[in-house]
Amino acid sequence: MLVDSHTHIDTSRFDTDRESVIQAALAGGVTRMVDPGCDLASSQDALALAKSHPGVVFAGVGVHPHEATTYTDEVEAQLRTMTREPEVVAIGEFGLDYFRMLSPREVQRAVFCRHLALAREYDLPCIIHVRDSHEDVIELLREHGKGLRGVFHCFSGNVEQAEECLSFEGFMLSFAGPLTREGNALPDVARTAPLERILVETDSPYLVPKPLKARRNEPLFVKYTAQKLADLRGMTLEEIAHITTANAVRLFGLGEKHETI
Ligand SMILES: [Zn+2]
Ligand SMILES: [Zn+2]
Repeated sequence: MLVDSHTHIDTSRFDTDRESVIQAALAGGVTRMVDPGCDLASSQDALALAKSHPGVVFAGVGVHPHEATTYTDEVEAQLRTMTREPEVVAIGEFGLDYFRMLSPREVQRAVFCRHLALAREYDLPCIIHVRDSHEDVIELLREHGKGLRGVFHCFSGNVEQAEECLSFEGFMLSFAGPLTREGNALPDVARTAPLERILVETDSPYLVPKPLKARRNEPLFVKYTAQKLADLRGMTLEEIAHITTANAVRLFGLGEKHETI
C-alpha cells in the first residue's frame, strides 16, 4: 500500500482517462493520493476530484509560485472557504521558483508568507515547492514558519540542504522521479534522511521515473520511486511502502477528517 503524496491528476492531461488512471493506481496498491492545486481553478478541481473519490483522493489548496501574481484577496477568500472542507488536507502547493521566475521574486516571497499564515490559521500542513530558491525558503520559514509542519515536495537538493530543511521539526522530504535518475545528490539524501520523515510522490503528469519510457507520469508509477528508495536503504519495497504511507497519513491526517464527518 502506497500513498502518492503529490499528483496533479486534476489537470487536462488526464481528461480522457482520469478514472482509469485512478483505478489502475488502486489496483496496483497506490491507495491514496494527494492532489495539490496550483491556482484557484485547479484548487477547485482538486477539491471536486477529492469529493468524488472520498478516502482515495485528497486535495491541497494554494497558488504555485509560477502563478503568484494571480494571488489576490479575493482568491485568498475562496481558498479559505475551501480549506474548511474535510477533503482539503494541506495548503499548497506554494513556494518559490527562481529557476523559471514566472512571477517577480518579491511577489513570490509575499505570496509564500500568505500561505504560511493560512497553514497556521487552519492548522494544515504546507506543501512547499522549492526550485533554485533554497536559501530564501529557509529564511522565510525561519522568520514565519515556526511550529508549522509540511513537506518539501520533489526535494532536489543535497545532503546539507536536506539537513537544513529537516531542522524544521514538522517537515518531511518527498522524493519523486528524479531519485531514479543519475546526476544528482538525491541518493545520498535518500540514504541518510530519517525514515520517519520521508515521503514518495509522482508530481504526475511530470517526472516519469526510470526505467519507464511513458510520456506521462501517473500515481501508479510512484512504486518505481519507492523501489529505488528501498534499494538505497537496503530495505524491501513493502517496508518502504509501510513507512512512507504511515508518514503521509500522519502528516496529512489522511482519512481522519473524513471519518469524523
Ligand atoms: Zn512543485
Ligand atoms: Zn506539483
